Amino acid sequence: MPKNLSFATRVVNDYSASRPDDQYRAVIPPIYLASTFEQPTDGSAGPYGYQRSSNPTRGSVESAVAYVEGAEHALAFATGMAATATVFSSLTTGDRVLLTSSVYGGTFLLVDEFFARRGITAEFVDDFNELTEIPEDTAMVFLESPTNPTLRVTDISHVASLAKKVNAKVVVDNTFSTAYLQKPLDLGADAVVYSGTKYFGGHSDVLAGFILTNDDAWYASLKIASKALGNPLSPFDSYSILRGLKTLVIRLDRQQENAAILRDYLEHHPAVSRVLAPGWYSAKEKEIHARQSKGDGALFAFELAEGIDFHAFAKNLKLMRFAVSLGSVETLICHPASMIHENLSPEEREKAGISDRLLRLSVGIEDVHDLKADLENALSAID
Ligand SMILES: *Cc1c(COP(=O)(O)O)cnc(C)c1O
Repeated sequence: MPKNLSFATRVVNDYSASRPDDQYRAVIPPIYLASTFEQPTDGSAGPYGYQRSSNPTRGSVESAVAYVEGAEHALAFATGMAATATVFSSLTTGDRVLLTSSVYGGTFLLVDEFFARRGITAEFVDDFNELTEIPEDTAMVFLESPTNPTLRVTDISHVASLAKKVNAKVVVDNTFSTAYLQKPLDLGADAVVYSGTKYFGGHSDVLAGFILTNDDAWYASLKIASKALGNPLSPFDSYSILRGLKTLVIRLDRQQENAAILRDYLEHHPAVSRVLAPGWYSAKEKEIHARQSKGDGALFAFELAEGIDFHAFAKNLKLMRFAVSLGSVETLICHPASMIHENLSPEEREKAGISDRLLRLSVGIEDVHDLKADLENALSAID
């Protein structure tokens, strides 16, 4: 196989995988639904056994995702949260984990409700970029950059170098960027997790999650954890992700292009007080993001001007769907204060920068003129 294939080529075909050996020479891997595979009777093990342990279609998507990321190992899970929960399952009572303070809501719930009660201490860090050291008893650092929904940026290499000194593992939830824009393993992270539900699937029709790592021993124990927890990805859903992955680059290119135009439009609109995109917070974050990421992605937030009610605005949108989730071909808009961060108190939301006038936009692949007109109509109707 030619070396150094571009990312846009690698998402289309997993050239690292062996060619399909079935009698029909299909160009895509078949979906093997079997829950179990016959075994040799001489006491040896066949290549596949029971589906919870391994499955050829899941193997194909794991191989494809690892190939795209440039990682040694990948594990596929039923959801993004199943992947995150499996990463956290390697912690034990007494361990400390540091997380970005505006971490994904499900992750917050997991550490705050589930793991805290099992003696794992979670501490939320407002700005990792300002840290000069990490407490010695830290077992793991779990971060997102950019964050949701305030698009704050964390210097991944900086955190990785601090974590190395105390032997803490660094895990990055890279869902918003994907390896097309940002490669945490190259920046020193020990593992990357994804909600494959978002940009990998890309069509709002499948849930999936992934863990990627170059650490052989950790991979082996995470694989056992997934088998024990019973949370791997089904063959059908593995196929959906294999299919979605092929268009990741063309979708994200178009989505980023559209997002840049809409950001620019909103920045100049009198009914919008500010637009939050990677680097908005400070020159330092802007510089970090430019250094570690190839693009601003297609997710951003904006705040309506004082006195403007988001209900009135959202009601007038005709194309954009008012729904949580992100990364799909259709544009979704949501109200983080009531739809994502409703578990936080008003004071906690205020501190996190999530006002009642903040809206988050996940930009799709539609014609940007139509999207702009949709915003224009909705904004002018409330003036
Ligand atoms: C959606 C999401 C998750 C959780 O993924 P599910 O597939 O919904 O379980 C985790 N992290 C981020 C950043 C997400 O956007």
